[in-house]
Amino acid sequence: YARSKTIAENNLRLHQANAELARLYEKTRELDELKTQFFANISHELRTPLTLILGPVGKHLADPDLAPALRRDLEVVERNARMLYRHVSDLLDVAKLEAGRMVMHYTEGDLAHLTRVIASHFDSLAEGRCIRYVVTTPPTLTAQVDAEKYQRILLNLLSNAFKFAGDGGAIQLRLTAAGGQARIEVEDNGPGIPEAMREQVFEPFRQVEGGSSRHHGGTGLGLAIVRELAQLHGGSVRIDAAPSGGALFILELPLLAPPGTQLQAQGEAL
Ligand code: ADP
Repeated sequence: YARSKTIAENNLRLHQANAELARLYEKTRELDELKTQFFANISHELRTPLTLILGPVGKHLADPDLAPALRRDLEVVERNARMLYRHVSDLLDVAKLEAGRMVMHYTEGDLAHLTRVIASHFDSLAEGRCIRYVVTTPPTLTAQVDAEKYQRILLNLLSNAFKFAGDGGAIQLRLTAAGGQARIEVEDNGPGIPEAMREQVFEPFRQVEGGSSRHHGGTGLGLAIVRELAQLHGGSVRIDAAPSGGALFILELPLLAPPGTQLQAQGEAL
């Protein structure tokens, strides 16, 4: 009798523990949803005033008669407002991705051309910092991707490369295609990413501890977004060591949109 009583008591405790665990799990899920919703709301609320700051600033900067001192100040305002806008957009993207609300808009176009256009945004930065910046692509490459999201991926990878490659360093962007996949490699000769961290840096908010990242600032969201966007395309992204010891990001995207996808007309996406 004593033994069966102990067994009954143990069963009861187990049952209670299970119920408590289920309650905690439900609570965590609710909090997680609230957090995601909070990020989405706050990002949205922050973007509107930023747009209203950027509008008039841009208008004044376009005025050729603007006094030089005022122009310099307004350029600082514009640069920083843009940076803030990008960070806020990252937060909004993460919230959308976590809520599964990111919608894909595939178009068919020349991925080589698109890649060269995106890459060229960094030409003047490379020149100013004496970075050897080499972009190699085939003359054309027809692919079905979400052009805007492809741009977000590439801009994130390239800004990281430019953040970590020192002045006078080297950055390469290579686009190739094989086996129905486009392969994009972004390589820099900065400090690189320790092998143990090469998966973790794709987690939201994760940065390499103790490295130069804290010094470089950033939100730790860029790579999380890159991976999610690559996966939404049915592709992947991973890190390898560059021969120079720097970082080498390898992005692979299918050349064709998922079967059954409705392609959008050119120009609708961007
Ligand atoms: P952020 O750049 O805003 O910190 P990311 O998600 O883009 O966020 O990057 C996460 C971390 O990965 C960075 O903080 C840095 O530690 C590391 N990292 C990313 N790209 C590079 C790179 N090219 N070279 C070295 N470390 C990098």
